[in-house]
Amino acid sequence: MIELFRGDIAALEVDAIVNAANEALLGGGGVDGAIHRVAGPGLLAECRTLGGCPTGEARITGGYRLPARHVIHTVGPVWRGAGDEDALLAACYRNSFALAREHGLSSLAFPAISTGVYGFPPDRAAGIAVGGARAHGAGFARIVFACFDEATEALYREELASP
Ligand code: ADP
Repeated sequence: MIELFRGDIAALEVDAIVNAANEALLGGGGVDGAIHRVAGPGLLAECRTLGGCPTGEARITGGYRLPARHVIHTVGPVWRGAGDEDALLAACYRNSFALAREHGLSSLAFPAISTGVYGFPPDRAAGIAVGGARAHGAGFARIVFACFDEATEALYREELASP
């Protein structure tokens, strides 16, 4: 049920890919930029109608030119060491699964939310991601963790190996 994929999440043919967006939902760098580049301008146009998204919440759009049917945009926390980041990152996973379930989706791919420019410690984030899938992923046919590099994939592999 949980798989690891090494590479660009925008290439995945699943019911929804999750985007590590920012609160404006108007595109950005990293995985957000990669998703918008493949999806084309229709995605940005739909995002403009949503009025942003608070940290920890999630919103769904179409997938436009992506192989994925939908994009679930979630906003991870910026790591500041303030103490609320773990709960906010866990909320991203919980709310993304809830939205996918509401829409009857059965296959879902996640990037390593917050571990790029948002600076969340990657090992800690992998634990929260795998914990989120174990807590909220029951009934999904496919849950894919898209790991952009070898180090990220190793962290997920380690998490998945521990009960
Ligand atoms: P955030 O702002 O939430 O930190 P980033 O996009 O900067 O988001 O990074 C999140 C993670 O996504 C990082 O681990 C980064 O290496 C990874 N990443 C960047 N581009 C892609 C992509 N095309 N597919 C999958 N993962 C990606």
